[in-house]
Amino acid sequence: MKTSLFPRLVNGPFGDPGLFVGLRWQGRALQFDLGRLGRTEPGELLKISHTFVSHAHMDHFMGFDHLLRLFLPRDAVLNVYGPEDFLARLGARLAGYTWNLTDDYPLAIVGHEVRPEAVTSATFRAATGFVPERRSERPFDGVLLDEPALRVSAAILDHKIPCLAFALTEKSHLNVDTAVLERRRLQPGRWIDALKHAIRTGAPDDQPIAALARTNGAIEEERFSLGSLRELVIESRGQKIGYVVDTLYSPGNERKIVDLVGNADLFYCEAPFLEEDVEQATKRHHLTARQAGLLGRAAAVRRLEVFHFSPRYEGRADQIYAEARAAFVGE
Ligand SMILES: [Zn+2]
Ligand SMILES: [Zn+2]
Repeated sequence: MKTSLFPRLVNGPFGDPGLFVGLRWQGRALQFDLGRLGRTEPGELLKISHTFVSHAHMDHFMGFDHLLRLFLPRDAVLNVYGPEDFLARLGARLAGYTWNLTDDYPLAIVGHEVRPEAVTSATFRAATGFVPERRSERPFDGVLLDEPALRVSAAILDHKIPCLAFALTEKSHLNVDTAVLERRRLQPGRWIDALKHAIRTGAPDDQPIAALARTNGAIEEERFSLGSLRELVIESRGQKIGYVVDTLYSPGNERKIVDLVGNADLFYCEAPFLEEDVEQATKRHHLTARQAGLLGRAAAVRRLEVFHFSPRYEGRADQIYAEARAAFVGE
């Protein structure tokens, strides 16, 4: 399947959990969990517009400082989502530094706290020393971010504390038919992004689009109506990615996970323990590799990628992959 979502784990399976998803059509990125981020290029991290933190255990949130350090001098808005009590924790992290020289820094961090009944948002601006302001609240309907091209949904799972699981859905994928492009003597370029954006946002047929046309060997900008360019674009089903970490294997959690990540193309699921240590896993409200495989199977996902392995299994990663795989395919 063609897709514009490019996901990759930011650390190895034994490292801190974190998923970076590049969005090709916009030159930006989404980040799920903020553990150690040092292995990702700063230029890549600076593409992040929204980060989704499952919960504030240290291995999922300590990378926030790393991100803040990079974004501090930037004219940017960084959105950070997290579970119950998240605004207080985010505020406390920001209050841990001195901000007397940032009056003219334009950076704003918008925190969003997700609870069963509501999502509460607050803005923390560098210019005012990151004191929270502009608090607002909306009912939580399962959707955190809804844009023309993508949606991020969440479920609140039980990890002895509320822990967020996420699904990222590309609403539809728009491809350019190169044969039509060729026939109409049009040249690929940035204008294709504008064309796709116009289609995604439901712009009217008479909206002008400045395309690059080849005339007598020269390439020139030429205006077309959106309607006359629609034949260039083929629409296909988008990709869906699921992300579940730090959760208990329980009927309640299973139901929420299946609802959230059902039919995903790619399912990132934690597998900290082997089934031989299921008691330990249950005590710590974590999954075993077998349970991760069963969840992937129940949710009918196409591909399962397990990660967030406990360091106790260092050197035994193959065993974890094999156990998850066996449960996933139903052996
Ligand atoms: Zn964890
Ligand atoms: Zn945890």
